[in-house]
Amino acid sequence: MGNKFCKKCGACCKHIIIDKERKIICWDAELPLTEEFEAMLFPADEENNIYACRFLVNNLCTNPNRPEVCINYPSFPFVQLPENCGYEGYIFVQKEKLKHKIRKLKEEILHYTVLSETTNDKRERQQYQKIINTHVRYIDKYKNYGSDNW
Ligand code: SF4
Ligand code: SF4
Repeated sequence: MGNKFCKKCGACCKHIIIDKERKIICWDAELPLTEEFEAMLFPADEENNIYACRFLVNNLCTNPNRPEVCINYPSFPFVQLPENCGYEGYIFVQKEKLKHKIRKLKEEILHYTVLSETTNDKRERQQYQKIINTHVRYIDKYKNYGSDNW
């Protein structure tokens, strides 16, 4: 549950999707399901793997030791926010910033590709390739969200 733009509706803490087989929380980004986090939950709609947090009282968090994932929520640009969440605008901006960053990385990849193709220095070429590989790995992290087309 966030703070800055939070409307204190409590919806995010009543709709936490858990993939028990993969031990994953599909809540903000997909994150590992820790024992600490699992212990806070009770089934809200078990058939659909939806859980709620027992620390939510009157739509407010009463956990004095909120796990990091709660403190940071929502942080992932492709988080599935509950309807009318106060963070909609903020997350939209984060998404646009990420797309902008990835477009810049693609430009840099082109730049380093040209440099790599025009130098005769093997070490330089390897350095350029290293940068390109790091950029490609970063872009690929968002492949499932369409980063190939940004
Ligand atoms: S769904 Fe959004 S507005 Fe509602 S409690 Fe969670 S972070 Fe706050
Ligand atoms: S600990 Fe608090 S913020 Fe985290 S899921 Fe539970 S009620 Fe929400």
